[in-house]
Amino acid sequence: MKRKFNFGAGPATLPLPVLEEVQEEILDWKGLGVSVLEISHRSNDFQEMALQATQDFIDLLSIPDNYCVVFLHGGASLQMSMIPLNFSKRNEVVSYVNSGYWAKKAIDEAENYNKVEISASSEESNFNYFPTQNLWKINSKSNYIHVTPNETIGGVALRSFDKMTIPLIADYSSSILSEPLEVSKFGVIYGGAQKNIGPAGLGFAIIRKDLLEGIKESVPTMLNYSTHQENNSMYNTPPTFAWYVAGKVFRWLKSLGGLKEISKTNLNKATKLYKFIDQSDLYFNNIEESSRSIMNIPFLLRQESLNSKFLDQSVKSDLFALKGHRSVGGMRASIYNAMPEEGIDRLIEFMKAFEKDNL
Ligand SMILES: *Cc1c(COP(=O)(O)O)cnc(C)c1O
Repeated sequence: MKRKFNFGAGPATLPLPVLEEVQEEILDWKGLGVSVLEISHRSNDFQEMALQATQDFIDLLSIPDNYCVVFLHGGASLQMSMIPLNFSKRNEVVSYVNSGYWAKKAIDEAENYNKVEISASSEESNFNYFPTQNLWKINSKSNYIHVTPNETIGGVALRSFDKMTIPLIADYSSSILSEPLEVSKFGVIYGGAQKNIGPAGLGFAIIRKDLLEGIKESVPTMLNYSTHQENNSMYNTPPTFAWYVAGKVFRWLKSLGGLKEISKTNLNKATKLYKFIDQSDLYFNNIEESSRSIMNIPFLLRQESLNSKFLDQSVKSDLFALKGHRSVGGMRASIYNAMPEEGIDRLIEFMKAFEKDNL
């Protein structure tokens, strides 16, 4: 067996110690003689594990008491539909920041139900920067403002926020747990697990509890955040295996010293890679420096004809899934928590040698 460094955007690389633990436990979990895949979510053993995982998530993010955490099916995309349903009424005004591909998905979804006002957009400059909060225009009738703090495809990010007068709702799919976060600045933080938390199939939401009180009774049961909150995310069968693996990832993060520690490594990894790209004659990244993501780093080759050669050779050098998203082309290195610093060093080494051989 040989593992490559996996730069895929999601489902993404997982920490090796987590995978090894899963492997060790897969046939016989906790001496029960059955797998965690085969056990009731209502059993004491599963409940205990789920509770611990949730608590570890709360600890990692220092989530205040006036917030609740729910885990649910449907990934980030289902929640893009749930948010307008739960936190506004039909045809009311809601505000969205248009920072790229995923923000637009959320906007499209809200437009099915609401009057959407775009508070700020970087579309006219091809999303090469993230509109900062001072640029946001907010209609006083707006129920909430939605933001996508890390655009997984575009590679732009906004990494700190001021408190707002209306609930700030954020799709944190691809940067949750990458650095400390001031949860109290937000009304809702949500996302899918498969980037920086665990396997696909699991979504999370951190919700300020008072916002649950305004949810209309007409919202269908499974789409109503209150259902999940009131039933500790077990109204129906949750994605049990994904939750179990996520729990191990939380433990692993805690063992490394939590988000302060991992954020130092993350910043170091990203800085190294950007620095290399910026001085190169072959590679470039178009994003304004202050808006650059530390999780997803897209880059282009000045000679596009070299793209397929780059991809062929990189995978032979044990660097997996560097192909950029089809909407932007080029390359993308997703360097989530589980990507070790060694992976960045190996990538830079490869890029350097490739540049030397081809320019
Ligand atoms: C991946 C991603 C999504 C989509 O997630 P699904 O779980 O596939 O619905 C949404 N938003 C962002 C920022 C993402 O990175």
